[in-house]
Amino acid sequence: MCGILTALTNTAVLAQEKADTVVTNGKILTVDSDFRVVQALAINGGRIVARGASTEMTRYSGPNTKIIDVKGATVIPGLIDNHFHFTRAVERWHQQARFEGVDTRREALRILAAKAASLKPGDWIMVQGGWTPRQFADAPGSFTLAELDGVAPKNPLFVQEGYSLVYANSLALKAVGLNPADGARRNATGLVSFQPPYALYDAMPPASPAQLDQNLTDFMHELNATGLTGVYSLGQSKFLADRAAKGPLPLRLWETLPVFANDPASATKAAALIERSHPNQFDGQYGIYGLAEVLYGPFFDLAPRKDPWPPEIMNEYGKLATAAARAGFHVHEHVINNSAVTDLLDTLEKVNRVQPIGKLRWTLGHVYDISPSNIARAKAMGMTLGVHGAAMQAGAHMPLRKIADSGIVFGLGTDATIVSHYSPFVTLGWVVSGLDVGGSRVLDETLTREEALIAHTRSNAYLFFQENALGSLEVGKQADLVVLDRDYMTVPAADIKHIRPTLTMVGGRVVFTSLAQYNLARASELR
Ligand SMILES: [Zn+2]
Repeated sequence: MCGILTALTNTAVLAQEKADTVVTNGKILTVDSDFRVVQALAINGGRIVARGASTEMTRYSGPNTKIIDVKGATVIPGLIDNHFHFTRAVERWHQQARFEGVDTRREALRILAAKAASLKPGDWIMVQGGWTPRQFADAPGSFTLAELDGVAPKNPLFVQEGYSLVYANSLALKAVGLNPADGARRNATGLVSFQPPYALYDAMPPASPAQLDQNLTDFMHELNATGLTGVYSLGQSKFLADRAAKGPLPLRLWETLPVFANDPASATKAAALIERSHPNQFDGQYGIYGLAEVLYGPFFDLAPRKDPWPPEIMNEYGKLATAAARAGFHVHEHVINNSAVTDLLDTLEKVNRVQPIGKLRWTLGHVYDISPSNIARAKAMGMTLGVHGAAMQAGAHMPLRKIADSGIVFGLGTDATIVSHYSPFVTLGWVVSGLDVGGSRVLDETLTREEALIAHTRSNAYLFFQENALGSLEVGKQADLVVLDRDYMTVPAADIKHIRPTLTMVGGRVVFTSLAQYNLARASELR
């Protein structure tokens, strides 16, 4: 009843407005607070001006209105990823092959061979992580030298498995002085890690500025094709700022303030920088948002520890957190193990007594085994959680039911591209089915489809203080939406990972479409 009244009011108020675009005949999951389903949306100037039955929207159509008849397809709000290492993917995108959602070895090898066929002999090919040997359900396991030489006989090729392992073919091994007779599989230390000496990365020629520009275009298009309309890009890069200055991006991008704090002296300087910087410069398309993902370098939680984090480290963390709170910055902190969550919350509760953080929505990202008591402590300080596809790759048993039932706001993301895939549908499939890409059960606790979709849309909008503009399909909000090739709500849970967008719209602009029937994406809209 309440919903009907709201719809009538919206219709009455905006009845004079004509739409430049109408999306019609859909099963549109609005992901509003009632999770309402409507047939049609009227859009004008990038915003939704009305929603309801398809017949109701005709009053908004004029001679110049673009009609997108989705013929019964499911439509969802644009998907937002709250944790993404974006720029390093862009830097090498022209050389990359990817295994997002690929569940057979045969298909993975076909993808590598196709990439080799698309390049000149001698050009490097890489897979910048985002997969595990478990995901090939037909033949799990690592790649052999014969396989990699077979798919790329004329191109140096390496396939990263996270940060720790790499598989390289004979040409790539020889390029860095290694003997192919010792096999494809190598410990990645010093070969592909982001610590020196980066041997395999260094062996590749750097991308030219023109190539980098093309890579940025192509990678944003790729993410649009996976259903993403917004990404928190951890880091800060001039080429993104330059591109954003030229006009609207096809992907909303938040970046982080570049701060370096690795010891008490640099922490003091970093705190001063934070305090004189402006938080949340996001202008609707792009901008520096917050601090992430390691506020103080020495507090970098990887393996579980026996002892608590030392007070001298947590004290420095507390000083930086106090500066961030005073300046009004959002913090998204990398913290994997519950013991580290405990130590961090101890510190933040002290900070909160001096400089309240309750309105800043700080996010604990990763939290593989967070306890109910720590969820409650974080919630009490107005904090939020980031749940990431990297946990699927790690095989973590995330307490998703406890998180969802606690009422804390949590958003989905990936941590792409090295320790995770970047496909939101792979992530949604994982949290709903409990299965990884290869079909192995990795979660004991799962989410409903509604909870998962909310976490990948509306909740992420909340993490970025954009809940009035993004994250659901409601009158007054931005028209960021994705048309799907099958119904997210009814497809078997194990098939959610295979859902493909057929159209992606950002701010009313079609930024991706795979179907001729939508043939609406003008070239000028796709830059
Ligand atoms: Zn992290």
